Amino acid sequence: MKNYVLRLRKTILLLVVAALCALAQPPDFKPTVILISFDGFRPDYIDRTSSPSFRRMAAEGVRAKALISCFPSKTFPNHYSIVTGLYPAKHGIVSNTFFDAELNATYNAFRDVAKEPRWYGGEPIWVTAESQGQIAASFFWVGSEVPINGEHPSRWKPYEHGFPNAQRVDTVLSWLDLPASNRPTCITLYFALLDDAGHSSGPDSPKTLFVVEQADSIVGRLVAGLENRKLLDKVNIIIVSDHGMSQLSPDRVVYLEDYIDSTDSRVVDWSPVTALIPEDGKDEKVFNALKNAHPSLKVYRKSEIPAQWHYNKSPRIAPLTAVADDGWTIARKRTQGGNRRLSGGNHGYDPRLPSMHALFLARGPAFKKGFFAEPFENVHIYNILCKILSLTPAPNDGDLKEVLDILK
Ligand SMILES: [Zn+2]
Repeated sequence: MKNYVLRLRKTILLLVVAALCALAQPPDFKPTVILISFDGFRPDYIDRTSSPSFRRMAAEGVRAKALISCFPSKTFPNHYSIVTGLYPAKHGIVSNTFFDAELNATYNAFRDVAKEPRWYGGEPIWVTAESQGQIAASFFWVGSEVPINGEHPSRWKPYEHGFPNAQRVDTVLSWLDLPASNRPTCITLYFALLDDAGHSSGPDSPKTLFVVEQADSIVGRLVAGLENRKLLDKVNIIIVSDHGMSQLSPDRVVYLEDYIDSTDSRVVDWSPVTALIPEDGKDEKVFNALKNAHPSLKVYRKSEIPAQWHYNKSPRIAPLTAVADDGWTIARKRTQGGNRRLSGGNHGYDPRLPSMHALFLARGPAFKKGFFAEPFENVHIYNILCKILSLTPAPNDGDLKEVLDILK
């Protein structure tokens, strides 16, 4: 019995010594990526402000001339394309609001219906990571609140628009302090302040450019936190936006009531991309009424939407899609006293327009230093994430070969 107790004490002592040695060693830091979205951040904002932290990211990493969004250049389709590598018609979130003809149901990004998993196709990066044995964590991202394939990221929280931005950064930094067995390797982080400013004041207003400096200080806070932890050169940071922002004007409005009878079709999504579902037998009447109605309005049958938008073959795309030219608004009818939505900024337009260009900056061990990349589409980002994390990607529309030049 005495021998047994002695052996047990010796074993415990050895275990304690081994644990202390493990703590004293530098942490086994696995390849890690923080994917950050500044909603509605136009890349030229950096050039029009001092933005020391964004400029430092570009100088020490990669900056793309533009990140090309998916059509329509709206928030929900694009955030979900970034994390799945799929075009919206494939992943199913074809706009912020849409009607599914097969489900006979309407999706609305800003209502509880958006939390139903049936809307979300494809495999977001956090599902790819967790199903291959890594830990994912999200401080907000489209889809993270929804059990997709039955899974959330290990850490996530319901979206709170007003949650303090600095606290979002500090929380992500605290996740990196966790022991390796709990530490996430795949992190998403989201900020809405630039989209809010762009919508209310427009992309050229001093107010918006002031908010760019606030966004810059958020990046500065993250970089300082990583430097303090001696992790700046171990963690990969990717900063993106989902789309740009265009200046609106009350002088650039197409009023649908000038051309079509409101009883001939149902409008499920408004401006600048308008989804119309004509009543039975009214398809051609509505199409012909809008076809040459206004020089700044294009209308497409579902089968004739330009191929580069990859926007067809989904029961969620309406029979007719009307698209306004850059900076134009599509409105139902003239209202007395004006419409506040006719000033400020908006997005949703053709993603190849310079005003719709989105942001891509990246820095860390996976990326070249001081590299200025040609524009590329956001569906490639999922493959970059998989490459950095050594994950096998799910089938997707991106191609790593298109973006290999930005990687070391
Ligand atoms: Zn957005």
